[in-house]
Amino acid sequence: MRVAVIGAGIGGLCTAIGLQRAGAHVTVYERAPILSPIGSGLSIFPNGSTALRALGLGDPFASITADSAAHLRAGQRKPDGTWLATIPPEAVNGLRVVHRADLHRVLVDALNPGTLQLGISATTAGAEGTPRVELEGGDVASVEADLVVAADGINSAVRRSWPADPGLRYSGYSSWRGVTSRPVDLLGAAGETWGTGLRFGMAPLRDGRVYWFGVASMPADDRIPDEFAAVRRLFEHWHDPIPALLDATDPAAVFRHPINDLAKPLPTFHRGGVVLLGDAAHAMTPDLGQGANQAMEDAATLAALLAPLAADSAPDPGTVDHALSEYDRLRRARTQPIARRARGVGALAHVKGRLGVGVRNAVLRLTPASALGRQATAVQQWAPPATEVAPRIGDGSRWPAR
Ligand SMILES: Cc1cc2nc3c(=O)[nH]c(=O)nc-3n(C[C@H](O)[C@H](O)[C@H](O)COP(=O)(O)OP(=O)(O)OC[C@H]3O[C@@H](n4cnc5c(N)ncnc54)[C@H](O)[C@@H]3O)c2cc1C
Repeated sequence: MRVAVIGAGIGGLCTAIGLQRAGAHVTVYERAPILSPIGSGLSIFPNGSTALRALGLGDPFASITADSAAHLRAGQRKPDGTWLATIPPEAVNGLRVVHRADLHRVLVDALNPGTLQLGISATTAGAEGTPRVELEGGDVASVEADLVVAADGINSAVRRSWPADPGLRYSGYSSWRGVTSRPVDLLGAAGETWGTGLRFGMAPLRDGRVYWFGVASMPADDRIPDEFAAVRRLFEHWHDPIPALLDATDPAAVFRHPINDLAKPLPTFHRGGVVLLGDAAHAMTPDLGQGANQAMEDAATLAALLAPLAADSAPDPGTVDHALSEYDRLRRARTQPIARRARGVGALAHVKGRLGVGVRNAVLRLTPASALGRQATAVQQWAPPATEVAPRIGDGSRWPAR
């Protein structure tokens, strides 16, 4: 089976690995000319870890992470450090925080040599779902495939070419993200601190450095001459160790992103021989830390459903279509309620006005820890469809040219 994957983000790479290990001939087209080691932290929950294990990536993933978050008190605090809510340990025990660059590296390393074509922008021929990619930046103009996986992110050109594309909507808040350049003592706690229209979160990486994010209600296109100075002004008087985290961060490595999600759930992730995957299919706000976890689940699901066909050089189109319809059914049912919930959590965190914040804080204080734990673990429970993709001997080859 010939598979063209558009986009070498977490979703595209996981999909390529899963289908390649099942025997498919996979090419990944990535428009960036180089894969630079940028990015900050990423929370991977037990559902994401399950997906990575199903894709045969359990060991490489374990090598870049640790259970450091599991030993810390987690929940929501006020800017003065008073706890509003504590999440029970069983809801955070399985959380693993990684540096995005590390995750990217282990995913690229797991591809067969020659899979990844950098500096090539790809899209599909149109709305009809013909599995052909149009290419810009390489030697050929178009490539036929049995399947095109559009993992081209939140601004997916493939999704925008579909008639049902709902477009994006701005959440009302934007986020700065950073990683300290040296270890910082988290003083026994992690999680989020909620103020008025402001939020700060922190989580430990394996080596003691800390991934942090600051979030502020603001117009999407706010022009800020010095982003790091703005973060300092907003958060440097908040509880410890927030000032120490900012002191330990290189200002040049702090970036702001407007937080968007899909304006409405898509009616389908599947048209003919083309499927949408990851943020292209279900861009959600990061308020549950599930976007990449869901992209991994998508990849593991698609790989499992196509595993019986992947090694076939001329797969029956009807059987492929059946598998893709099942992918569509399973993944819309799973991801769209999570996207809705993520949006709801963001709205609660950024509720406007003193009265609203007072009510929000009271609700958090009064919600039993067991209920918060049940809510968190409900999302974390997931298993791929029955046919898992076992790594095949000889597929451990490394991608040398980076
Ligand atoms: C502030 C913030 C914090 C987050 N925190 C978390 C978290 O803790 N946990 C979590 O699970 N998720 C988190 N997320 C969400 C997560 O980052 C995304 O869901 C995830 O990266 C989506 O992966 P993807 O592969 O679908 O898309 P992307 O990572 O966006 O990858 C898309 C790729 O496609 C390429 N591309 C685009 N167009 C083309 C084209 N035409 N041709 C070729 N290539 C193309 C792009 O260059 C890119 O490499 C967070 C998001 C934000 C904004």
